[in-house]
Amino acid sequence: MRSLLPFIRLFKYAKFPLFIGIILMITGLAASISLLTLSGWFLAATAIVGIHTLFNFFYPSASVRGFAIGRTVARYFEKIVTHDATFRILAKLRVQVFSKIIPLSPSVLNRYRNTDLLNRLVADVDTLDNLYLRLIAPFISAIVVIIAMTITLSFFNLKIALGIGFTLLILLIVIPTIFYHLGNKFGLALTQSRANYRTQFLEFIQAQAELLLFNAAQPLKQQLNETEQQWQAYQQQEANLSGFSTALLLFINGLILSTTLWVAANADFGDWDYPKALIGLFALAALASFEILMPIGAAFLHIGQIVASAERVNEITSQQPLVQFNGTNTIQITPNQPIIEIQDLLFHYPEKKELAIDHLNLSILAQQKVAILGKTGSGKSTLLQLLVRHYDAQQGQLQLAGKDIRSYTESSLRQHICFLTQRVHIFSDTLRNNLQIASTTKIKDTQFIDILQKVGLSKLLEQEQGLDLWLGDGGRPLSGGEQRRLGLARVLLNEAPIVLLDEPTEGLDRETERNILALILQHCQQKTLIMITHRLTSIEKFDQICIIDNAKLIEKGSYSELINKPQGFFKRLLERI
Ligand code: ATP
Ligand code: MG
Repeated sequence: MRSLLPFIRLFKYAKFPLFIGIILMITGLAASISLLTLSGWFLAATAIVGIHTLFNFFYPSASVRGFAIGRTVARYFEKIVTHDATFRILAKLRVQVFSKIIPLSPSVLNRYRNTDLLNRLVADVDTLDNLYLRLIAPFISAIVVIIAMTITLSFFNLKIALGIGFTLLILLIVIPTIFYHLGNKFGLALTQSRANYRTQFLEFIQAQAELLLFNAAQPLKQQLNETEQQWQAYQQQEANLSGFSTALLLFINGLILSTTLWVAANADFGDWDYPKALIGLFALAALASFEILMPIGAAFLHIGQIVASAERVNEITSQQPLVQFNGTNTIQITPNQPIIEIQDLLFHYPEKKELAIDHLNLSILAQQKVAILGKTGSGKSTLLQLLVRHYDAQQGQLQLAGKDIRSYTESSLRQHICFLTQRVHIFSDTLRNNLQIASTTKIKDTQFIDILQKVGLSKLLEQEQGLDLWLGDGGRPLSGGEQRRLGLARVLLNEAPIVLLDEPTEGLDRETERNILALILQHCQQKTLIMITHRLTSIEKFDQICIIDNAKLIEKGSYSELINKPQGFFKRLLERI
């Protein structure tokens, strides 16, 4: 239950509407009960009086009308106000969760599947709207209305009023407790199986191509089916319990009604007019009390799910980003001064023991061009990840422009470093928007067209949509090489003075590779370039070549230094090729 506290705290953002919502809920409930109670008395009284006797039926019948209209109006506005307040709170919550998720990227988020995250952000946050609408507001209203009802009834007969009041208050404590325990048992399982189903379903859809090619769809379908059946079984259980809660409450209501009738029939109502009519009043008051309790049972049946959803959302929001950006400095680059200085750097991924960077030392001057070579899995991409602070090294020094990399603000770091990752992400968006993300200033169409021509993607512009060409789901309609070149187009549109490229020419034919490399070197003339590559095309144009092997920097130097190094790794590599 404690996991609900962060969400209850959010109520402060809609205090007034929430308060008005409860007032309206109380008004609606009170009007509804008064309607039945007064009707009970009115019908009984008119029957007792009979015809030929003077009886003022105007006041009671006007009040019955008044209560009926009051009930409708109050319920109408209650729904508007409470839902409006809840949606406001949910909007706040969603923004809050989202803003917590962003700094977790990418290191912590790797632990969650994307679909699971989406599920938490959408379905679980949605479930939390029940907290106010179904739990808190009806519970508070119930207490207030029971007390008000008891006080009003006590004017007619104190003992019966107290009897009804206490019974209702006791039920108000007992019923939620019972249903909380019943619902709690499977609330978590229900929430979990709903999440599982959605995650599996989305992955099933996303992996369609691979599943069909490997003829592997059937087992996954089977699994999906099982998860769905499990989910339905929990839903069935919920429906059974919900039916049971209604039956139990109706039964209790019947008991209260008959007991009240029995007690009221023998009660002494003093000197009220038509005392026998008060039997009808009490009987129908007992019947109406049903309206107070009915929503409570069902609501507490849901509490297990609400708590489970709250825990799933809390789990995400309580994660600490691996990297905190607390620095205040902005990067100032001086030409020909060391821009990157790495001393004795040591890093392992949080969930792994082996080092991904092992006592690495490296110094790079501003505007130098550096190529990084090495076997697959040797730690090349990891080094670039450290340079953009996707992770922080556990030991050693990593200085950028003369200061510790951690002393800079995130925005300054992002502004000064352009990073083309190994896997280019293509948004399901237009060609134009996919390129525009490279720059904060608006890029002109002519510039887009020029860059696309340079990277050899002018073919994409041949279709009539031009720059508005839709790139589909994650860029699937593009070839691997086209996706790489689109990534490069982004780099060329970016103005950052430090450029980090992770295998930019991977998958390109030799001629295209040569052109692209020339483009990159031209773009980076006044910039610092660090490029990871497996190929040796144009390698002599780089000022410094670094060889990483098994997390260690085993060789570094200029092209001429390395080819003259006897038994050097680079020399042997060159000879082999
Ligand atoms: P490639 O040439 O294949 O791209 P690489 O030199 O870039 O290889 P890295 O991606 O730096 O290799 O990986 C170095 C080591 O760290 C590998 O053993 C890899 O399995 C591991 N590794 C990489 N990324 C992660 C991660 N996010 N979490 C845990 N381990 C990782
Ligand atoms: Mg890599």
